[in-house]
Amino acid sequence: MLELRDITKRFGNTEVLRGVSAEIQKGEIFTIIGPSGAGKSTLLRIINFLETPTSGTVIFGGRDITSEGSIAVRRRMGMVFQKSATFNTTVYENVAIGLRFRGIPEAEVREKITEALGIVGLTGFEERKAKTLSGGEMQRVALARVLVTNPDLLLLDEPTANLDPVSVEMIEDLIKKINRDFGITILMSTHDMVQGQRLAHRIGVMMNGVFSQIGTPREIFSAPHDRYVARFVGIEN
Ligand code: ATP
Ligand code: MG
Repeated sequence: MLELRDITKRFGNTEVLRGVSAEIQKGEIFTIIGPSGAGKSTLLRIINFLETPTSGTVIFGGRDITSEGSIAVRRRMGMVFQKSATFNTTVYENVAIGLRFRGIPEAEVREKITEALGIVGLTGFEERKAKTLSGGEMQRVALARVLVTNPDLLLLDEPTANLDPVSVEMIEDLIKKINRDFGITILMSTHDMVQGQRLAHRIGVMMNGVFSQIGTPREIFSAPHDRYVARFVGIEN
């Protein structure tokens, strides 16, 4: 459903992505794990049209979208960032953002929001000011915001960074549920390889702007391709 062909990205003299290729299958959870500065966020931002690649191709749903980024394509993707913007407004308005420009009648908007808040476990939070929420609740609002738009592909950039263990578990369960119950393909970055292992059908280990290895958690952990992957997944040999 998403194919990355030899993506490179240069900021000035720094080559952040040095030829990233991967195929994300429909229905899977694919996690990008790698150390800080490896290029995970940059890659997700390129897929979501927030950056343009220096070279390479992004194919989504069979079409080259590298330089296109049409509204129709954008609407089929959702993205949640490490730190979702905290808006000085209610939970209801936060979730409604995803629907505002689609000309959907308010009654239907309300219905979708009620449903999405139920899914993320925030029923009754509609009128709470977003800034009064905990980090975990805020991330659940961010997930509700993309859920109402019913995307084919969900991009998550470190969705559990800086959360307490209980919130991490809740968000992980929610990610699995969104994937399983709604059939939404998920491409997610994390620097936590244990989380990658818990959630992913497949993992791409990103080191220095390329995937050093792509495989199932079992493959990566039992047969790392090289010493760098081995070291990163905690198997010194
Ligand atoms: P982290 O785990 O810390 O989130 P990451 O893998 O997401 O790291 P990126 O944010 O993609 O890494 O950054 C990769 C490199 O690109 C870093 O060295 C960063 O400083 C650099 N970089 C990212 N965006 C820009 C920019 N707009 N201009 C210059 N350099 C940038
Ligand atoms: Mg990042």
